[in-house]
Amino acid sequence: MDITAPSRAPLPCALPDSPLANAAAGLDACVHCGFCLPACPTYVTLHDENDSPRGRLLLMRRLLDGEIAPDDPDVGTHLDRCLGCRGCETACPSGVPYGALLEATRATLREHRPTPFIARVVLDVFARSWLLKPALLGARIVRASGIARWLARTLPARVAFPFAMLASTAPVRIAGNRTGPRLRRATQPAPTATMLTGCVMQGLFAHVNDATATALRGTGHTLVTTTGQGCCGALHAHAGDLHTARALAKRNIVAFERVPQAVIAVNSAGCGAMLKEYGHLLHDEPAWAERAAAVSTRVRDISELLAGRLEADEPAVSAHDASSSTDASSARASVASSSTLETSRPVRVAYDAPCHLLHAQRISREPLAVLQSVPGIELVPLEDSELCCGSAGIYNLVEPETSDAVLAPKLQHMLNARADVITTGNPGCLMQLGAALLLADSATPAVHPVVLVADAFERPSRD
Ligand code: SF4
Ligand code: SF4
Repeated sequence: MDITAPSRAPLPCALPDSPLANAAAGLDACVHCGFCLPACPTYVTLHDENDSPRGRLLLMRRLLDGEIAPDDPDVGTHLDRCLGCRGCETACPSGVPYGALLEATRATLREHRPTPFIARVVLDVFARSWLLKPALLGARIVRASGIARWLARTLPARVAFPFAMLASTAPVRIAGNRTGPRLRRATQPAPTATMLTGCVMQGLFAHVNDATATALRGTGHTLVTTTGQGCCGALHAHAGDLHTARALAKRNIVAFERVPQAVIAVNSAGCGAMLKEYGHLLHDEPAWAERAAAVSTRVRDISELLAGRLEADEPAVSAHDASSSTDASSARASVASSSTLETSRPVRVAYDAPCHLLHAQRISREPLAVLQSVPGIELVPLEDSELCCGSAGIYNLVEPETSDAVLAPKLQHMLNARADVITTGNPGCLMQLGAALLLADSATPAVHPVVLVADAFERPSRD
């Protein structure tokens, strides 16, 4: 069946009152120009129009027109393969709200086809903190025991991948050049801030949360704690489970209303995008719409709060001067211990943009500005850094083959960059990139940018 052939004439809605029908106005904005195709990782990888944004939008239209049944396996396949990266939204000149349409379509199809078992388990665990907390504790024990790293190096690649993801979450400190300039603590006050501590961030990346607090305090923010917060609901929303996503959003709205004066600092791009969309998620619930929108307007990615607020305590060594006078290949940075990266020259850092920062939140300059402000760093280019890494929430677990295919060129670009550190501001991306590097026997870690900021506020003594 050619499922991308254009429909002939408007037909009565075959899925009235469905989430997709309610979002259908966005479909009409598509003029089928195809500008989004080169920005789509699944189209670039699979070369199938049905796995392109334009093809998927046409599928959505044909679902509404009744030309395709919602339980059609072809529809499920092509929509399941979508990463939800929203690279197509950035590329689209017509403003098609692809992310909202995808979520609405998945929510509609969810009632007509079963959710894959592994996705159901993950979503159920993330919706229940009494299940999630022990699960993350168990993961930390496996990580600390070294079993995760050992299994990652021992098992066949695809089976090893989840263990490599876990192993790659271990903290890494970037001491850099210990005698060089450091970041100066701010003397000017900044707004009061509170943090979304998150679920995976607190469970596996507590060191990133600690670094975020250090960076916020170092830049003059007063930090207040928000109790009662939890998972943001992004995984559920992206999977079409809007009911659970809304329930989790409401819990966070109630929590953040307790600190109404504080901006909400988020160090996970996917969670930040979700919180910024709480207003949209709850727009048709009168009791919540206004409260959700009010919380959304207070949300800031950590890079938005740090950009322009970082100053070195003495003139930093010019990255160009330093790098031109030092042969990178003869003075490679070394991981002095299993957790501290030390170098006598600028640390070569490559930045990979999380899709939910670049495309969903449209934040591109701030993370680079932050990294450029950290003394002792040489920012090196990473080819196709704006393309998805294939992580996409639980995509790499439920669509492993396509995820691997999307990841392969990303890994090659990371290796080509010859960076000491890969940085990215999202837990899923950190695990995906970190696992790929680990399995490729690279010593380069994947690190959150805020860790480099926090480490530059301190002058570590030699161990
Ligand atoms: S989604 Fe946008 S870029 Fe893609 S075909 Fe439609 S109008 Fe063109
Ligand atoms: S969200 Fe990403 S994978 Fe899905 S159609 Fe858009 S660009 Fe392609």
